[in-house]
Amino acid sequence: MLTTGGLSPGKAGHKPSRSALPNTPNRRIDPGNRLRTATVRTTVCDVAQLLLVEDDASIRHALVRALTERGHAVTSTYTALDALQHVVNAPPDLVILDLGLPGLDGYEALRMMRAVSQVPVVVATARDDEADIVRALNAGADDYLVKPFGPGQIDARVRAVLRRVGEGDRPRSAPIQVGGLWLDGQAYEAILDGIQLELSRREFDLLYYLARHAGRVVPKRDLLTHVWRMPYGGADKTVDVHVSWLRRKMGETAQDPRYLYTVRGVGIKLAAPA
Ligand code: CA
Repeated sequence: MLTTGGLSPGKAGHKPSRSALPNTPNRRIDPGNRLRTATVRTTVCDVAQLLLVEDDASIRHALVRALTERGHAVTSTYTALDALQHVVNAPPDLVILDLGLPGLDGYEALRMMRAVSQVPVVVATARDDEADIVRALNAGADDYLVKPFGPGQIDARVRAVLRRVGEGDRPRSAPIQVGGLWLDGQAYEAILDGIQLELSRREFDLLYYLARHAGRVVPKRDLLTHVWRMPYGGADKTVDVHVSWLRRKMGETAQDPRYLYTVRGVGIKLAAPA
């Protein structure tokens, strides 16, 4: 069981320093060599960014510590409003949400979260009524844990939900090559014609997702859902802006595409040059 006695306050996790690629512009790299290196890296665990919403300080600290020790990066807060802001401004990979929160109730928070985000939510609460569980699942929770629970159990649930909702959505697997473009989802490295691209985390995720579906037009709705974890609805300019940034970094334009094609009214396609 999760014990809180004697635990020092857990440190809110910091995002691993992979949000941007190393500052080594125009470094020439032999893709073949990188590919061999990458195959050795497959044991490296992908770090999930978790947001923990829990108002009980001792439980919060114990959970942050337990989840951090198990390889997650954890940010914590104790109010639903703060959590909502966080989900909008810096979307995590998964939210662990307590239902009994001061001010805005966890159910309300969950409903509001669902209006702006498809982020996976695991509810962790002391309420064990079946009606409460059904209500949380109906409000959009992906899973439900009743306190008290052990750290191994919440870790397993978190990983199971991430696997289920994110199967193949996030860059976490094998390197991909499309023409002269080579992407390593583990190391967040993008190499085009032997030159390393300087991409933000989001740009990399977008490029990787498109590369995984190379040759197919990917609807903007799908990109928002899988890359941004946001519902569709007038926010497709976000995709356009990021695609234009990618084009600039890849040395191409919408009028003269090499890899990235906009199919008007449908979506974006990545394809190798003919
Ligand atoms: Ca509580």
